[in-house]
Amino acid sequence: MVQQMLLNKQEIIRLLSDEQHEQQLWEQADRVRKEAVGDEVHLRGLIEFSNICRNNCLYCGIRKDNKSVCRYHMTEEEIVSTAQKAAQMGFKTIVMQSGEDMYYNKERMSRIIEQIKKFDVAITLSIGERTYEEYKAFREAGADRYLMRIETTDKELYHKLDPNMSWQHRYECLMMIKELGYELGSGIMVGLPKQSIESIADDLLFLKAIGVDMAGIGPFIPHPQTPLAKEQGGTLELSLRTMAVMRLLMPDINIPATTAMESLHPQGRIKALQAGANVVMPNVNSGEYMKLYELYPHKPIEGFTQSDIVKKIESIGRCIGQGYGSHQRKNKI
Ligand code: SAM
Repeated sequence: MVQQMLLNKQEIIRLLSDEQHEQQLWEQADRVRKEAVGDEVHLRGLIEFSNICRNNCLYCGIRKDNKSVCRYHMTEEEIVSTAQKAAQMGFKTIVMQSGEDMYYNKERMSRIIEQIKKFDVAITLSIGERTYEEYKAFREAGADRYLMRIETTDKELYHKLDPNMSWQHRYECLMMIKELGYELGSGIMVGLPKQSIESIADDLLFLKAIGVDMAGIGPFIPHPQTPLAKEQGGTLELSLRTMAVMRLLMPDINIPATTAMESLHPQGRIKALQAGANVVMPNVNSGEYMKLYELYPHKPIEGFTQSDIVKKIESIGRCIGQGYGSHQRKNKI
């Protein structure tokens, strides 16, 4: 049985701040990962099916007010055939992500989910804040998991960065998702303007308190066409320390090596896999859509088929997961 570490806020702050011993922290998280979830790396086929968004998050490249984005949304047929291709390539999970695009209403989205479900895959939705009825309909249509980052638990910061949105509402959405029996994914960005280490420690304790099945942690990367263009952004190192502490706090959850980490360093995802991560989400869209879904600059534009990610994963002694890669609860306090 894997014991989760009962770190308090002060201990978390110390680990997050300790640059000198970060290598030891990453190695410790890697050992805990191995013991709790093994050496399998689960691949999720990511379909970014629309870059249309009703929101105006200050950090995000596809925010509503960014008029220089060429907007697209994929047709139902395109989404389903992309998912089918991904399933044929061997992906056992399809992640469907988009801006908050209401074109995909309850009926349309449910239809897409039902069709993709026929390919014997698990489905993760990442389409933002919806009503309880919609979450329920998507679950009944066959969606298994839902990913929605809380972004930060500093409510003041959240309301500055996400105008016209409510932190409380986002939290309530996460609770609805959990209640409906989805595997719950959430997470944060690291290095947001005015975000403190104390606040990141609170974020980690929050993710643990709500019992996430998956935690996505990535650096904030300033996008040149957003109001935060001139901000510094997060570092790979602090993001990796944050992810590593998450692994210590919740040994058996799924933790992706996020694409944003790869944007900061060509080996970003491999470093993440060696510091606690056990999931990679290669993009299975066509190159054209990949370019248009630009949340932050320097996003790696590599199709999965051309990608050497599998070789890289195997080169560090890990293997590709063959099952759905759902969260298996193992640990007891
Ligand atoms: N609309 C859905 C939602 O709100 O969950 C999913 C799409 S949203 C664009 C996906 C995630 O991208 C956000 O939760 C945020 O953490 C991340 N993101 C957006 N802009 C970013 C940036 N500049 N740097 C790093 N991550 C960013």
